[in-house]
Formats: sequence, structure tokens, C-alpha cells
Amino acid sequence: MKLLVTGGAGYVGSVCAARLAESGHEVVVLDDLSTGHADAVPDGVRLVEADINDVIGDVLAEGYDGVLHFAAKSLVGESQQEPAKYWHGNVGTALALLDAMVEHGTPRLVFSSTAATYGEPDAVPIAETAPTRPTNTYGATKLAIDHAITGYARSHGISAVSLRYFNVAGAYGRFGERHTTETHLIPIVLQVAQGKRDQVAVYGDDYPTEDGTCVRDYIHVVDLADAHLKALDHAEAGEHRIYNLGNGLGFSVRQVIDACREVTGHPIPAEVSPRRSGDPAVLVASAERARTELGWKPERVELTGIVRDAWEFTRSQEAR
Ligand code: UDP
Repeated sequence: MKLLVTGGAGYVGSVCAARLAESGHEVVVLDDLSTGHADAVPDGVRLVEADINDVIGDVLAEGYDGVLHFAAKSLVGESQQEPAKYWHGNVGTALALLDAMVEHGTPRLVFSSTAATYGEPDAVPIAETAPTRPTNTYGATKLAIDHAITGYARSHGISAVSLRYFNVAGAYGRFGERHTTETHLIPIVLQVAQGKRDQVAVYGDDYPTEDGTCVRDYIHVVDLADAHLKALDHAEAGEHRIYNLGNGLGFSVRQVIDACREVTGHPIPAEVSPRRSGDPAVLVASAERARTELGWKPERVELTGIVRDAWEFTRSQEAR
């Protein structure tokens, strides 16, 4: 298939573009490089460096079998401080993309959604039927896009799948996580092991969990990318399907730090700090629907393996 990957110079987008290209698809990346990196675009993949809003009509006019839409702003804290950046940047851009898909008859869409659409859960594991009550602007914009996709798919015969990611981690060879502003736990802990930070702050140890720290569902980025490949051919025309992607396994902040100590051999000093506002105690996915309907099964579920891949990537960046 000829596929457009928006945000394909970013973390998840670049891994997905690489896996798609390796599976024989013709891939074009559209990215404005606001947070992505040109050298994260896989070899043999064309990069269109531009703002989606400026060029999406011209690009889709070339004729595509589908779009995988990753390009988005994704910092929760920033979304609270600068909501306009998220409503225009995420929702406005997604609408421009959907309009162009309708205009040029692009038949398929796979959308990068998030567990943040659910907010604080009533029960875990979280299934797709759980109430969607996002607690931040980032999650609200992704949920708004999911609603827009449902309507566009139904009215215009687009086959659409939204994938709601839990905590994505790990790396795929030279494709990995390199954010200028890093807020995620595993890269931050690995920065301590690299000597770039003195210690890691553990945001709260008085949660109702076994060791008092928050529990999250860490999913390997390659397993996540492979779900996108399966999703491409999945929905019928006019249908919008939604799948959670997680391992269904929860790991606490302390377990993550221990896994990083084991992998890196670094003592990784950790200090308990106040809770981070808006953090639910436990977020674990039920990915049963993806397993049964997409035939997807995460293969890289061990936390140390996920951390090892992230660590190898981190060290390879240092050596550059
Ligand atoms: N966390 C932490 N210290 C940090 C960064 C994160 O204790 O420096 C905790 C955070 O409170 C959450 C978990 O690690 O419970 C995962 O956070 P992350 O930002 O990686 O992902 P989120 O679950 O917020 O999407």
C-alpha cells in the first residue's frame, strides 16, 4: 500500500514507518520537525517537511491507500498551560486531515489515540467500554478527534481505527525516544544512569498500590507499531474501531527503577517527592479486544527487555 505517516519523524511514528517500510509498503513521512528529527526517518522513506495544515491537500492529491496519523502535541503539563496549542494543533490539524481525506478519497486511517481519553478509571484493567472522562487538555483533544473520526468514517465511508496507547517504551534499533522536554519515567531514569541527572524523583509513595508508587502498563514500541500494521486492513468502510494497546501488566515506579538498575548496573538514586497532579494510582489496559479482533499479541512483555532496548538506544545516541 502507499501510506502517509504524519509525525513519522517522531518516536512512535518513526518506529511505525520503519516497520511499514520493512513490510514492503511504500511510505511517505509528513512531519514539520517541530519535535521530530529528520534522521529518524527510515532509509528509503521520503520526508515531506511541512505543516500538515499547509500541504495535506496537495500531498493526498498524489493518491494514497491510507494515512497513519501520529503528528500531535503530547505533553500533558503543557496542554494544561497552553490549551489553544492543543485544540488548534491537535484537533484543528486532524480536521484538516479528515477534510483532505474526504476530498481526495483516501480510504483508510489509523489514528494514534491515548489512554488519557479515559481519565481516572472506575475499574482496572481498562476496557474500551470504560467511561471517557479525560482529566487534561491533551486527553480531551485526542477524545475529540476520536469523535470526529467516527462521524467522518460513517458519512464518508472511511475505514478508521483508533489505537489508545498506554505507556509506550523501548526502542527499535536506531529509532527511539528523544524528546527535548522529557517527562516520561523510563527515559528520565536512564538519564540518571547516563550521568545527565543526579537522581530521579518518585512522584508519591502513598498511593493504594503494593509499594505505594503508581502502577502503569508499559508496552514495547515495536509491539505497538505492529498493531498499526494489523489495524490498517481491519475496519470496514464506514466503520471506526477503537482498541486499547497495553500489555495488561502493571509495573510500579519502583519496579521500573529497579529494572533500570538491573539493566544499567547504575545505582540510580531515587527520592520520594510530592505526587504529580492528575496522576491516577493504577492505569492498566485490557487489550482483549485487540487480541481477539486484530489478532494482535504483545511479544516483548518483560520489563527488563523493554528497558534494555531503551538503554541500548540511549547509549547509541550518546556515541553519536
Ligand atoms: N514518574 C515519576 N517520576 C518522574 C516521571 C514519572 O515518579 O520523573 C511517575 C509518574 O508519576 C507516573 C509514572 O511515573 O506514575 C509514569 O509516568 P509517565 O510520565 O512516564 O507516563 P504517564 O503514565 O503519566 O503517561
